[in-house]
Amino acid sequence: MKNLFGLTLAELETELKDLPKFRAKQIAAHIYKHGLKSFDEMNDLPKVLRIELAERYEIKAAELLKRLDSADGLTTKFLLGLADGAAIEVVLMRHDYGDSVCISSQVGCQMGCKFCASTLKGLERNLTAAEMLGEIFFVNEVLGKVVDSIVVMGTGEPLMNYDELIKMLRLLHEDYCLGLSYRKVTISTCGIVPAIKKLRDEKIPVTLSISLHAPDDNLRSALMPINSAFGLKSLLAAGDDYAQSTGRRVTYEYILLGGVNDTEEHARRLAKILSGQLANVNLIPFNPIVERTFSPPTNHAVKKFFHFLNTHGINATIRKEMGADVNAACGQLKANWK
Ligand code: SF4
Repeated sequence: MKNLFGLTLAELETELKDLPKFRAKQIAAHIYKHGLKSFDEMNDLPKVLRIELAERYEIKAAELLKRLDSADGLTTKFLLGLADGAAIEVVLMRHDYGDSVCISSQVGCQMGCKFCASTLKGLERNLTAAEMLGEIFFVNEVLGKVVDSIVVMGTGEPLMNYDELIKMLRLLHEDYCLGLSYRKVTISTCGIVPAIKKLRDEKIPVTLSISLHAPDDNLRSALMPINSAFGLKSLLAAGDDYAQSTGRRVTYEYILLGGVNDTEEHARRLAKILSGQLANVNLIPFNPIVERTFSPPTNHAVKKFFHFLNTHGINATIRKEMGADVNAACGQLKANWK
């Protein structure tokens, strides 16, 4: 049975070409604006049409397999099942400035970042636009309202799933869907330079977040294999270009790994390479995961690093720790709930 969830209006019109065009519009509104999953509830369609549609089609987003709530109630991690049996993780974070959802873009990840749990089993497959949209709709249903912001920062490298990602974002933005402003979306990348340039040219003003994690090529290549393909110089130039072209400040993520990249000398070098950029630095104290041997930084090291950047012309923040007790924090997603 063909699934209509995730189709654009044009695709719905093609699929339902035997019907007058306005029917596709009505059905799109029911699926996306009203969140209906059954044709029977589409009261403005003739009864006979509702029955015919239900015989040929389904409206299916994601299915909940498991849910974990953090002790403070601010973070919820959902394990969602997909049609082929794959499972993905989605995290809802309730901030004081609004509700945010962190979605996955792939099942697994091939990028091999040394501090990350999501890459341990490699890449299984890309998610479709419909599956990514399904993550957002699932959380909207839990909240009973549309989420305030979306970060594509869960499992996977979104820019390695470029076409489906852009399709999903454009669909989200459509009036017949959620009409969501691109400014409410952040895309996080480990640094696929050609894709950053392509994203700049899409003219969709999403916020770009670049995982930096080291202030020099040697250390970055040791932590993130992608750096051997696209070194710091080209990555920083692409980030700067993105900020200049879109007017959107780029966020550089920096995981602080105890004794690895968290000294004042690292902060000094970081401030130097980011000097003059329209950028923020988001410091993320490492969240321990059993499969990785890194240690968290000391509180003293985090404060010192933060202070150094902010007193040397770099706007830095420390990411508020959320969801570590349910393995929902940054770098802890791995779809393993046993
Ligand atoms: S940090 Fe992101 S890009 Fe790197 S391995 Fe993990 S999921 Fe993949």
